[in-house]
Amino acid sequence: MMTRQKTATYVKRLVCGKCGQEHAARVLQGLCTACARPLLVEYDLKAVAQALPRETLRGRVASLWRYRELLPVERDGNIVTLGEGFTPLLDLPRLGAAMGLERLAVKDEAQMPTLSFKARGQAVAVSMAKELGVKRLAIPSAGNAASAMAAYGARAGLEVFVFMPEDVPLGNLIECDLLGAKTFLVNGLIGDCGKIVRDGAAAMGWFDASTLKEPYRLEGKKTMGLEIAEQMDWRLPDVIIYPTGGGTGLVGMWKAFNEMEALGWIGKQRPRLVSVQAAGCAPIVRAFEQGAEHAEPWANAQTVAAGLRVPSAVGDFLILRAIRETGGTAIAVSDEELLAGQQALARAEGVCPAPEGGATVAALGKLLRSGWLRRSESVVLFNTGHAIKYPYTPAPARHIRKEAVDFKAIAEG
Ligand SMILES: *Cc1c(COP(=O)(O)O)cnc(C)c1O
Ligand SMILES: [Zn+2]
Repeated sequence: MMTRQKTATYVKRLVCGKCGQEHAARVLQGLCTACARPLLVEYDLKAVAQALPRETLRGRVASLWRYRELLPVERDGNIVTLGEGFTPLLDLPRLGAAMGLERLAVKDEAQMPTLSFKARGQAVAVSMAKELGVKRLAIPSAGNAASAMAAYGARAGLEVFVFMPEDVPLGNLIECDLLGAKTFLVNGLIGDCGKIVRDGAAAMGWFDASTLKEPYRLEGKKTMGLEIAEQMDWRLPDVIIYPTGGGTGLVGMWKAFNEMEALGWIGKQRPRLVSVQAAGCAPIVRAFEQGAEHAEPWANAQTVAAGLRVPSAVGDFLILRAIRETGGTAIAVSDEELLAGQQALARAEGVCPAPEGGATVAALGKLLRSGWLRRSESVVLFNTGHAIKYPYTPAPARHIRKEAVDFKAIAEG
């Protein structure tokens, strides 16, 4: 593949993001054994810098595995791939003009296997699970993480159990069924699903692949940050707007930027990271505004943007740190606003975003109006998934008779 070596890993150790406790890298790990917070993968970046000058990326495979040296898998043979990553960074000239911005782009993660950015995390998490001998995986999910886990689990020949809220989008259910995951609908939210996975670990012998409860999903997601830098010729945008649930996307990119600086690939400047949440479930926004280090769980979480319906995130402090360290902000948008944003992006540019992607458009409008963002700045939005997974009733299409087509009526609409 992209590297001659059959066995290579530059992983040094796992370090707790909260208390700094070290954990061994080549064995299965969950949360920090000292404080039950997420572990982060640390690489020997001096060695990576030697092995991987930035220019060598040119001509490599157009998937996230082009960053092989910055990923944790040891043996190439353990890589489980469906061609994920290296999604296009699309200019948005028409939407940009409508909003008065000259440099607006979207990273279109709708073009991923299973139609969401969750494929990045699961490709790497399942590869590592395979490498470390896991046979049975379980995941609580708002939908897209389960779909992606089902796909990569099938690809790896591993058994997958998924637990989702009863009102999960239909597209996710279809995928999980077709991909052969053992699928369960729970009368609760993602946190309730997470408790079932946790409680069942001993009896079921499954590996808990919850967001940030194993260290490797984050490594997959960080490739979004690597790709943006490479696709923008190592000049990062002024602002990145990201729809936030569990936070792996935002935290992953923040980690990638820090690693790239250590490698000498980029300088000190960082995009200001903006976390967008739904007004009906905005624990990170509330904590950001309060200046808190952790976010209180959100009561009665409600939003059509299923991926944002995460009342409590184990990596909350990392999300807040990433926002604050980069001079970013956190902002909530209503369901009405995010659905309008979804339609605006679709109609102006032909990108058909998930409601979560629409939320970034709504947030952009608000940040421009408040003056937080200037029109001269360059902005990258993230469309994290595809609209088709979230069925809704479209505006009624008109029926016409093939025997008597009336073009005048068609022209008049
Ligand atoms: C999971 C998900 C999100 C939230 O992502 P995090 O990185 O976990 O915060 C956003 N959009 C979509 C479509 C998702 O599936
Ligand atoms: Zn710890």
